[in-house]
Amino acid sequence: MSTIKTKLIISGRSKKYTHGAINPIIQRTSSVIFDSVEEQKKIAKEHHYSKQLFYGRYGTITHFSFCKSMTELEHGVGCALYPCGTAAITHTILSFVNPGDHILITESAYEPTQKFCRYIAKKMNINITWFDPLIEQEIYNLIHYNTCLVILESPGSITMEVQNIPSIVQAIRKKKPDTTIILDNTWSAGVFLKPLDIGVDISLQSGTKYIIGHSDAMIGTAVSNERCWERLQKQYYLMGQMVDTDTAYMASRGLRTLHIRLKQHEENGLHIAKWLSQHPAIERVNHPALPTCKGHNNFLKNFSGSSGLFSFILKKKLNNVQLSNFLNNFKYFKIAYSWGGFESLILAYQTKELCSMRPIKTLDFTGTLIRVHIGLEDPNDLIQDLSHGLNRIDV
Ligand SMILES: *Cc1c(COP(=O)(O)O)cnc(C)c1O
Repeated sequence: MSTIKTKLIISGRSKKYTHGAINPIIQRTSSVIFDSVEEQKKIAKEHHYSKQLFYGRYGTITHFSFCKSMTELEHGVGCALYPCGTAAITHTILSFVNPGDHILITESAYEPTQKFCRYIAKKMNINITWFDPLIEQEIYNLIHYNTCLVILESPGSITMEVQNIPSIVQAIRKKKPDTTIILDNTWSAGVFLKPLDIGVDISLQSGTKYIIGHSDAMIGTAVSNERCWERLQKQYYLMGQMVDTDTAYMASRGLRTLHIRLKQHEENGLHIAKWLSQHPAIERVNHPALPTCKGHNNFLKNFSGSSGLFSFILKKKLNNVQLSNFLNNFKYFKIAYSWGGFESLILAYQTKELCSMRPIKTLDFTGTLIRVHIGLEDPNDLIQDLSHGLNRIDV
């Protein structure tokens, strides 16, 4: 059995995908030509389940190669592709709900996931119950006869709580075994966490982040276990979800260096998180690999490493002038959404904004929260940049 490092290099590269080249071929097409009407009819019947060429929207050899790699990476049986991570999340949710159903969602979920539940799912007469990301067996009591879907994300967006996935899964299966459990696995890139191995049905990723890895394309993936695959696959075809060939190729290309990039993001991130945790201006560092992060024990149990995204809380609540002075003058940290590329990024959140995303719980801090993505620059340069930034807070 090859290890993950080797798997990421060889997956999706058998001759049927590469035609003898090193990389999968880039097959751009809308139509696929059949040799005969008999062949057309035969493939029309079979193609959904056999990944045969049929029509561009259902994928080309380039897509099939990337899906094979993702399926192997996330230990599933099939992978659906979407134009971005948000589409992967919303379409996966739509695949498993009917009007009148009930969804459970962690209140640490990515904001657009939350908004989809609030505005679109609500409109479809679907009831939503939010839960504390640190919930364990007590989720049992939140499951009703019509609960069809549970949405997890670990670590949570922005505040980084690490969930006790095995415990949550066990309680759900005890009460209502056929509930679909999905998890946003973007943070681990599928490398450091294997959700399907611990009972989750579908692992979702914004491949825009670490898989693409260079901030130059967007893609979403949903890798499913056997139980949910047929339904997910049928629905993503019916909804016309697809990505173009070149993006699928870029995503495959990203996989080849994913492991080594992540190891460096991990090393740089930990180095900087530890430095920040000693800084007098900082109240707490929310880095899953540090004991100050909520759910750190769950991290130790289920993750095999950490990526470059984390947050920290300042002792002070900065006013607008202080915040601009802090954020606008970094040399290396750029102010931008998204993350997972080679570059370092920074964003700030006031507790007031965060509270609007936390329907059931008040936050236990008052200072300004800073989220950073630690890129592949020399960490000592980044520390100097952060050090200057933190010195600006007092002026
Ligand atoms: C960015 C992100 C998404 C959405 O991905 P897009 O490709 O930008 O649509 C979903 N979940 C998490 C955790 C993310 O960080």
